Amino acid sequence: MRGRVAALVAVAVLAAGCSGGDDDASERTTGAGTTGSSPAGPSASPAPDLDAALSTPVEDSFYPDVGDPGVDALHYDLKLDWAPTRRRLSGTATITLRATADADRLRLDLGPRMRPSAVTLDGRDVPFTHPGKDLLVEAAVTAEERHELVVEYAGRPGPVPAPTRRSDFSVTGITVTDAGELWTMQEPFGAYSWYPVNDQPADKALYDVSITTDAPFRGVANGELLDTSTTDGRTTTRWHLDSPASSYLTTIAVGDYRHDSGTTGSGLTVDYWVPRGMPRVLSRLRKAPRTVDWIEERLGPYPFSTLGLVVTDSESAMETQTMITLGTNAYVLSEPVIMHEIAHQWYGDLVSPSDWRDVWLNEGMTMYLQGRYEADLAGLPASEALASYEQACRASLAEAGPPGDYDRGSFGAGNIYYCPALMWDELRKRLGEDEFWAVARSWLEENAGTSVGREQLYDHWEDATGLELSSFFDSWITGETMPEVTPEQPLAP
Ligand SMILES: [Zn+2]
Repeated sequence: MRGRVAALVAVAVLAAGCSGGDDDASERTTGAGTTGSSPAGPSASPAPDLDAALSTPVEDSFYPDVGDPGVDALHYDLKLDWAPTRRRLSGTATITLRATADADRLRLDLGPRMRPSAVTLDGRDVPFTHPGKDLLVEAAVTAEERHELVVEYAGRPGPVPAPTRRSDFSVTGITVTDAGELWTMQEPFGAYSWYPVNDQPADKALYDVSITTDAPFRGVANGELLDTSTTDGRTTTRWHLDSPASSYLTTIAVGDYRHDSGTTGSGLTVDYWVPRGMPRVLSRLRKAPRTVDWIEERLGPYPFSTLGLVVTDSESAMETQTMITLGTNAYVLSEPVIMHEIAHQWYGDLVSPSDWRDVWLNEGMTMYLQGRYEADLAGLPASEALASYEQACRASLAEAGPPGDYDRGSFGAGNIYYCPALMWDELRKRLGEDEFWAVARSWLEENAGTSVGREQLYDHWEDATGLELSSFFDSWITGETMPEVTPEQPLAP
């Protein structure tokens, strides 16, 4: 999720690596017949390694009404159909899951606008009810057994309430535009507005998503685009995500998208999905590869197999895994904000919070990186870029409480950004650049693909540095007032 500090003016402008547009013409067929963008035609989805998606689900301490710790979803296969003129989404969700305990029924989250019509468990019809946002599947399950749950559902989708007072998002989940486009952005929850899901970040899963819609619209989702085909005026795109993701990091967008791409210094392709007729936006996205280069110098190689940016009608930005969702306003499309969302691929997506009390694990480090990046762009010392964070931290502590114990109705306030960003800079001053970034990297390496809590982070930094840091962390994360910011000189160990 994006930071809210007034960005310093980005002054340095370097040409990012880029390539020309794709073969759009070959994919624009809207009459009878089929065209495929994949030279070999549609390919089978690679078989997912389900063990890679084993999680330890928890009941969220801040938002316990969403998610069910009895379910460990391993893989979601979502076959979605979007009818833009009727504003109707229909889907078949095939969910492979592990029951974590013996239970008489399973519970998933599914928004009230989406109506389930049939549910099977391991091939057999099972009874279900759908009170409010809960999909209750009345079938007994045994701890550690794996099951295949299939849910047929449809409805006219819309967003669900968000526990926030932020001006740039008051609702969460799926949004449909007047033109019949759709996009999703859902933190801390809201994936349940468009598919049945265990919507809590401790439960990571793998995804295959296919989206069929009216051409020239086409669907974008997380991961790799396996193929695109158009039959009788309807286009289907199939996407495969090979890294386990928390549900708040999944995304779909449907619109008249044009594809382009760039390349990072280390050879990673960055895909751009831009609504047709917005070439100026594309020039903003072309800054993305060099931000990846800058982050890699500090956090190590980009952690996933694909990276894309999709532009939507949102006013915000979201670090959706491997396919970042961006709005169109100038701040959201600024280079530091694009860098911020890309940095979340390491801090937030590769390693995610297991409980929303620890969302600061995501935002502290990315906001710190954003401040450092803005300083580099402006040719300023880091301390100047971060000076504005001190006032922002103090104000947000007074408004929304400590970053690790915030007001539940003020999700995403400045407290989870600026205060832990300053905390990381304090630690960097104490350890020096080399040791600081080495420990920040080893944390990612040791916890890749998982969801974690603050205690694990504190232990990691203490073990790696040999320093007693818990009182330091506590003062920044649960303290009511901002700790002192120290001068720039490294302190004696
Ligand atoms: Zn963020």
